[in-house]
Amino acid sequence: MSDAIQYSILPSNAGAHLFEVTVSVPAPDEAGQVFRLPAWIPGSYLIRDFARNVVSTEASCDGEPVTLEQLDKSSWQAAPCDGPLRLTIEVYAQDLSVRGAHFDSQHAYFNGPAVFPAVVGQESRPIELEIRPPAGGIGQQWRVATAMNRAGAEPYGYGGYQAADYWELIDHPVEIGDFVLGEFEVNGIPHAIAFSGHDSIDTARICKDLAEICGAHHELLGAPGNLDRYLFLMMVVGKGYGGLEHRWSSSNMCSRDDLPLAGSTEVTSSYRKFLGLCSHEYFHLWNVTRMKPAAFTPYDLSREAYTGLMWVFEGITSYYDDLALARSGRISPDSYLELLGQVMTRVERNPGRHRQTLEQSSVEAWSKFYKQDSGSPNFIVSYYAKGSLMALALDLKLRSETNGRCSLDDVMRECWRQYGETGEGMPERGLESVAQRVSGLDLSEFFERYVRGTGELPLQELLQAVGVRLSFRPATDSKDVGGKPAPTDAQPACWIGSNLSVTDGRSVFGPVLAGSPAELAGVSPGDEIVALDGLKVSAANLDARLAAFKPGDSVGLAVFRRDELMKLSLTLVEPPATTCYLTLDEDADADAAARRDAWLKP
Ligand code: ZN
Repeated sequence: MSDAIQYSILPSNAGAHLFEVTVSVPAPDEAGQVFRLPAWIPGSYLIRDFARNVVSTEASCDGEPVTLEQLDKSSWQAAPCDGPLRLTIEVYAQDLSVRGAHFDSQHAYFNGPAVFPAVVGQESRPIELEIRPPAGGIGQQWRVATAMNRAGAEPYGYGGYQAADYWELIDHPVEIGDFVLGEFEVNGIPHAIAFSGHDSIDTARICKDLAEICGAHHELLGAPGNLDRYLFLMMVVGKGYGGLEHRWSSSNMCSRDDLPLAGSTEVTSSYRKFLGLCSHEYFHLWNVTRMKPAAFTPYDLSREAYTGLMWVFEGITSYYDDLALARSGRISPDSYLELLGQVMTRVERNPGRHRQTLEQSSVEAWSKFYKQDSGSPNFIVSYYAKGSLMALALDLKLRSETNGRCSLDDVMRECWRQYGETGEGMPERGLESVAQRVSGLDLSEFFERYVRGTGELPLQELLQAVGVRLSFRPATDSKDVGGKPAPTDAQPACWIGSNLSVTDGRSVFGPVLAGSPAELAGVSPGDEIVALDGLKVSAANLDARLAAFKPGDSVGLAVFRRDELMKLSLTLVEPPATTCYLTLDEDADADAAARRDAWLKP
């Protein structure tokens, strides 16, 4: 008998949304084997306590029942036995996200951390997994999509799979269902994308675009040594967006409308967003799934792992995701600058950037970024958005101050050589010291001010040096996301500093920005708007109603706070000039234009 730990998973009850999982341990711990489910999943920095979905547990040894003692919220210990010891659990699976497990009559999907308990102390043993077809006769036509190595199973089939250790087992999300498959190669490495939930897809176009984008990332950093296959899992839903990175795959969710219609060649803003998502998760092949902060080396999935480097692993990834769309020729430089302008607008509009540094945002990911509430825009800054702007600033600074000799590309290549290829975790100041060494510049003040301080990134002058103009203007209405100049016929709008959203048919205020007219008038997040200037108003027509007023006007505002009617007085102002857009500077000198081409061009 092999010394592998054997797991099996059976989608056992679609109606009740249950998976049945077994673990067989040939040589259990003599003191009593402990089994533990992770509290979080790598790539998503929130304590999720996956064991909360375990609804039954049972252990046996050679067919005889064995007592199981629950040690804490995530762990069980079996009474000592000679083995093989077998644990059986049932897991409730109703989380339709890229981070959990989901099973119904349409498909079965799971992430390892949500369903596979670790055999504590034996995590480095090899693993055999049997993926069983759903019970009850459903899903006769379903196939299995996962990048896990097969060991007996046919391609896309049920049956035997294997992993080198527990960490590899839980790094392979699995989709079981009806999916449309597209296949392509990058650098001679087979790649595939499996779309669930949608069957009329222009896979040829998508595969061609993805091959170019993935190719741009390979060109930058070189293929990881153990990358011999790659799979994009893509759940297509009515409205959704997100992804989670793994070493040989990614799990993604997109909206039906993001996908291009067959026959269309236009890159719509929603298709651009889809490509950006794929590009983002693919860049994580290097940045975070293989090259990791020291705090994740190895992962302790039982508690939070704190690092000030989330901006490096998510922010720099967010910088290169859209940049690769331009560098691979999928979008024009103008289209790329529009995306950059939108990111700058998001950062610029939130007062939280004055309160929280990138380093704090990283450390507090668990308690703040992943637990956002109505105060968040005022008190936190996103390590994704501002992190990507820090990456941009660093890239442009290196390019300008070394006369094009060095860029962030060189820094990332050296980081990859030092921390990615070796598997050594990146220390907290790792990126900073590599950047200084590679460029020969003293960057300590730059990092002090913009990573460990809340200084405003000097983007205007850095962009000017690569022939790009950064401009600021007031928003035209609540739907204005920036990235473009205002339409020439735009009237000066009135601004209140809080947006409405619709819940249960009621139009309620979201976050209220610090110092805004809404805050000064006494609006609270959650207040339901009823009337403006004596007339009924809702999310659907507030912009239109505000257009009737001028900055400086005072108007009556009626809201329900819980069930109490409140009358407030709102003084309207012109929106602050926090909406950004970028344009190619036609008057840029030859040096700046050359630097711009080196930065953006395919
Ligand atoms: Zn990411």
